[in-house]
Amino acid sequence: AVDPRLKAISESIRVVPHFPKPGIMFNDITTLLLHPGVFKDAVDIFVDRYRHMTISAVAEARGFIFGPAIALAIGAKFIPLRKPKKLPGEVISEKYVLEYGTDCLEMHVGAVQPEERVIVIDDLVATGGTLCAAIRLLERAGAEVVECACLIGLPKFKPLTKADYAGHGYCRLNG
Ligand code: AMP
Repeated sequence: AVDPRLKAISESIRVVPHFPKPGIMFNDITTLLLHPGVFKDAVDIFVDRYRHMTISAVAEARGFIFGPAIALAIGAKFIPLRKPKKLPGEVISEKYVLEYGTDCLEMHVGAVQPEERVIVIDDLVATGGTLCAAIRLLERAGAEVVECACLIGLPKFKPLTKADYAGHGYCRLNG
């Protein structure tokens, strides 16, 4: 059965055509955040899924909106994966390919211990490049990435399945 919460979640996300450039359908989740009940439902769906999976850490890249809320609710720590030069301690970094050029994510050394069970959250997965860089960082530190989760997986990339993340589970709210 389809989760009755999903309809309001999907309707509260504003789609802005041609932003930030022609041809891109931008999914703006800031409109979802303006509805506390819907925001809570979105967080709760992940919390329901992960609370009994012995997850000790939640990691999120760049925008830290859903990860911290989920981490608090399941009693896990939160690991921010940031753009270069934002973290003051010793870091490990991973470059990844964008549509045009490359980008890079950094994580503090010691943020996660070997064997820790981690989930990676992202609001939206387009190519999966950001998610894959996040997985590489965590695995280099010895963590086990149990699953990746997003609110929106762009339909264009619907074939993204477990296999695309080299055996990592994948959960998306939009089917
Ligand atoms: P990717 O690495 O290609 O999976 O892109 C993931 C990140 O790019 C997401 O976390 C979004 O912040 C952003 N992004 C890419 N495409 C879109 C889109 N159509 N609408 C909103 N955000 C997007």
